[in-house]
Amino acid sequence: MNSSDHQALEKLRKSGKILRETREKIREIVQEDMLIIDVCEKAESLIKEKGGKPAFPCNVSINEIAAHYTSPPNDKTKIPSKSLVKVDIGAHVDGYVTDTAITVCFNPEYAILVEAAEVALRSAIENIRPELSTSKLGATIEKTITTRGLKPVSNLTGHQVGRYLVHAGTSLPNVAHLISSKIKLGYTYAVEPFVTLSDAAGRVENGEETTIFRLSKPKPQKNPYAKQLLQYIEENFRTLPFAERWLQNIVPNSHYKEAFKDLLSSKALIGYPVFVEASRKPVAQAEHTVLVTKEGCEVLT
Ligand code: MN
Ligand code: MN
Repeated sequence: MNSSDHQALEKLRKSGKILRETREKIREIVQEDMLIIDVCEKAESLIKEKGGKPAFPCNVSINEIAAHYTSPPNDKTKIPSKSLVKVDIGAHVDGYVTDTAITVCFNPEYAILVEAAEVALRSAIENIRPELSTSKLGATIEKTITTRGLKPVSNLTGHQVGRYLVHAGTSLPNVAHLISSKIKLGYTYAVEPFVTLSDAAGRVENGEETTIFRLSKPKPQKNPYAKQLLQYIEENFRTLPFAERWLQNIVPNSHYKEAFKDLLSSKALIGYPVFVEASRKPVAQAEHTVLVTKEGCEVLT
């Protein structure tokens, strides 16, 4: 390993440590009736205090919402009682991204979903190694879930992470699959089983709302405020996802809405709609980022 590889590894490990500490703090504070925006802002500020940057907005996805909800500005939504709350966070240090998630359960009836997601994640971590086929890894996850009388969400996957990239290259489906690839030595992957009930559809579809965005192409803008906003996005988030909360007070308030609308309609930005379980059944998730080593893997988060 040369010195630049070594520095990269140190940054990746630092990113993982920041995220692990943040996740454990968030696990303690999430409560029923709490404002979702308070969870998002707390997680994002902890990541910054610890010397990292958020790699994407803190996702707080409730019950049948499987992923991709973050608070819009001034969000008044609260964590409902008896809910299943997935908190998914990402950090980067100089572009070295890590990604982790937990499910906090306020309904004892759904505790089995959380346990299945965690056990499936553990079995994936125990099995992952260089040259393992992604289908075998998916089959291990799938079997762990189905033997508990539950169902994996088939169209949500883990993924390789890269520099300034949350989803890079290879996907890691949570089920066996035909077109598979190989896990590679020295690569970093986020492994994330999603679990739902056995009578659910077991897949997600796009929901109504979009709260997370990223730069697509820096298209020229006529509106000077749109131009200014786009420049801010390019400089601060590059190709990483962001929330509208992060764009407050960049341009005058009275011009913000139109500027943001222009960026969307010119396709300079793309949005990630929320993912909702197709049959509206509750979903649990667990996620770690791992570095593949000769022996297996190092859990970074
Ligand atoms: Mn994640
Ligand atoms: Mn992920």
